[in-house]
Amino acid sequence: MFSPAVENLVTQLAKLPGVGRRSAQRLAFHLLSARPEEALELAHAIEEVKARVRFCRECGNLTEEELCEVCADPRRDRTVICVVEQPVDVVSLERTHEFRGLYHVLGGALSPLDGVEPSDLRIDALVARIERGGVEEVVLATNPTMTGEATAAYVADRLRGRARVTRLASGLPVGGDLEYADEVTLGRALAGRRDM
Ligand SMILES: [Zn+2]
Repeated sequence: MFSPAVENLVTQLAKLPGVGRRSAQRLAFHLLSARPEEALELAHAIEEVKARVRFCRECGNLTEEELCEVCADPRRDRTVICVVEQPVDVVSLERTHEFRGLYHVLGGALSPLDGVEPSDLRIDALVARIERGGVEEVVLATNPTMTGEATAAYVADRLRGRARVTRLASGLPVGGDLEYADEVTLGRALAGRRDM
């Protein structure tokens, strides 16, 4: 139905989360009718993030430097580490202005069915950070989903006896991702965290 090049563009766009084939077609036609410079700006932006952005050496957050903005900020409270699944969760939590500590990004959640095991996440790196000392509390802020809860339970187990471990208070939409919780709800969940 489409020429091979258009078909390829639609296929690539449809791989993006939340983009169905119908939306992918709409985006593809938008790009086809856009000025060449405009369309190439998008291609260039993708190229640039892939070349420049990497993971923070300390916490796994996204950064263009060795350390991310949070880890490099001397005003952050280094006695508390908030554990999240993805870099986007750091953005959500920062938006609440409730948390002044550091983060640790696992890079996903445990999911045996999808083949995601502890060694696939940055759990050993977290334990190593705690073992270096100075951390009093670890807040588990994985998503309130089945895989997020399983991950929280596993991490809590690994940290037992090493630091105080807390979990975000309930009140977050169950089965949803942190990313979709509003700032007030997320801020409240953070303030009301409980020992695990
Ligand atoms: Zn960092």
